[in-house]
Amino acid sequence: PMPTLAVVGRPNVGKSTLVNRILGRREAVVEDVPGVTRDRISYEAQWAGRKFLVQDTGGWEPDAKGLQQAVARQAELAMRTADAILLVVDATVGATSTDEAVAKTLRRSKTPVILVANKVDGERLEAEAAVLWSLGLGEPRLVSAAHGRGTGDLLDDVLDVL
Ligand code: GDP
Ligand code: MG
Repeated sequence: PMPTLAVVGRPNVGKSTLVNRILGRREAVVEDVPGVTRDRISYEAQWAGRKFLVQDTGGWEPDAKGLQQAVARQAELAMRTADAILLVVDATVGATSTDEAVAKTLRRSKTPVILVANKVDGERLEAEAAVLWSLGLGEPRLVSAAHGRGTGDLLDDVLDVL
């Protein structure tokens, strides 16, 4: 059986873009506007000769409270079913209250969690991403899913814990 890497986080942080980058193909649906309700979809991925499943998550709720619950629910499901978890946050936004709530849930995870600061398209954003240490999930891995910056190093780290 292949190990599963679950990708969780708020809508619009770039989860599906990161999944496509991991796959090396455009299979997960990227949305400019969050608004499509989708649950969990797994894709077969390979890195450094190792095969694994990468699970994109979604699920959109109209109000802020529903959104927070939907993201927390995906995180809890991932803690029970995945072998490693990527929590993706948007470095251009910083840590929102939803990010903090999900991070709090994931801090008690026995499944390894890697914090991903996405949309670090250039050096200017590297310093801003440092505030994400406050989420208590260790070092934020700085990536740009859109451009591929940092994603190879991230996948090397993923294979170490998967
Ligand atoms: P999801 O809702 O978390 O799955 O986010 P998506 O992958 O659908 O992306 C949401 C938006 O963020 C889209 O407009 C993407 O093009 C954009 N996006 C994703 N990754 C990056 C990135 O690394 N840099 C920038 N600038 N935009 C990104
Ligand atoms: Mg998505």
